[in-house]
Amino acid sequence: YSLDHFVIPSHYQKDVSSILIPHGIIMDRIEKLAKLIVEDSKGPLVICCVLKGGHQFFADLVNEIKKCNTVLGQSVPLSLEFIKVRSYHNDVSTGTVTISLTDEECQDWKNKNLLIVEDIIDTGNTMVKLLHKLQEFQPASVRVASLLLKKTPKSNGYVPNYVGFAIPDEFVVGYALDYNEYFRDLDHICIISEHGKEAYAIKN
Ligand code: 5GP
Ligand code: MG
Ligand code: MG
Repeated sequence: YSLDHFVIPSHYQKDVSSILIPHGIIMDRIEKLAKLIVEDSKGPLVICCVLKGGHQFFADLVNEIKKCNTVLGQSVPLSLEFIKVRSYHNDVSTGTVTISLTDEECQDWKNKNLLIVEDIIDTGNTMVKLLHKLQEFQPASVRVASLLLKKTPKSNGYVPNYVGFAIPDEFVVGYALDYNEYFRDLDHICIISEHGKEAYAIKN
């Protein structure tokens, strides 16, 4: 997609090299995902947003599920949860995942159907560790919706239940995905330019 045809905040004008997925296409795909999720749901869902990168996808997905709840036969009561996941990679994937809710708060998930909403699966290591951790709270079921799935040789083979788009092995930003906390305020999913990498690099 040519950059000239799309609205990009002027402060990022030189910082993206291409638009990988325009905002309108993201929204269309989310409408479809919401329908699939509602069709697959037998009862109430606990939808759990993985912050920060998942927040925009979460917000738009929840909106679309709410619309399904008013027009389709199936209606799925929702409760909304937010977790922040920290994974320690050290380049070797021996890390642990810590989640920001206390174990006590997570006890409410016992026998519930969870839907985890994540921005992107890259190696898959974070999600595999998160899913392992969640088993401690004895949910009835856990499904995962990830907006993006990176096609990378570094993948551990994990594939989420719902995927918005499979994307090439590039670092992407926008639609709440960040580079050093920047670019979350960009609607399209974009590939960052060399100028952008330099401009928002953390310099010691
Ligand atoms: P994984 O454990 O699957 O390798 O990576 C999980 C996390 O790394 C994602 O949830 C995301 O926060 C971050 N990440 C991986 N690839 C990208 C990318 O292309 N762009 C951005 N902004 N974050 C990424
Ligand atoms: Mg994430
Ligand atoms: Mg990030």
